[in-house]
Amino acid sequence: MSATPTRSRRPLTGPFWAAVDRHELVRPVCERCGKSFFTPQVLCPVCQSSSWSYRPSTGRGRVHSHTTIHRPPDPTFTAPYIVADVELDEGWRMLTWIVDCEPEEVRIDLPVRVRFVEGPGGDVLPAFAPDRAEEAR
Ligand SMILES: [Zn+2]
Repeated sequence: MSATPTRSRRPLTGPFWAAVDRHELVRPVCERCGKSFFTPQVLCPVCQSSSWSYRPSTGRGRVHSHTTIHRPPDPTFTAPYIVADVELDEGWRMLTWIVDCEPEEVRIDLPVRVRFVEGPGGDVLPAFAPDRAEEAR
């Protein structure tokens, strides 16, 4: 059974998942201090303001750190797979997957771009793939 019908209705994270379902990446941006943050929280983690809204992200960033999982926690995952902390252009970070490359290709600072993939449960999930055009610069 897919979680898609309910995840986009959750008050805090619903707009994030609704955007993902449209293949768009958004992030919370604080109206008071202007910082982007993730995951979505009731209060801005920088200035504690409750006034923030979702804004579009370029979906471009760089690998901040990464690891390769060889023993998945659940048989629905196909190992090996790469988990990474990606820093987006707007200065926020997201724990995600790196797809469309081999584990040995991933390195810190690798330019990546968002790619929407189907997760094990059938939901659309944001992942990242090497940004080959940016890498060639
Ligand atoms: Zn703030």
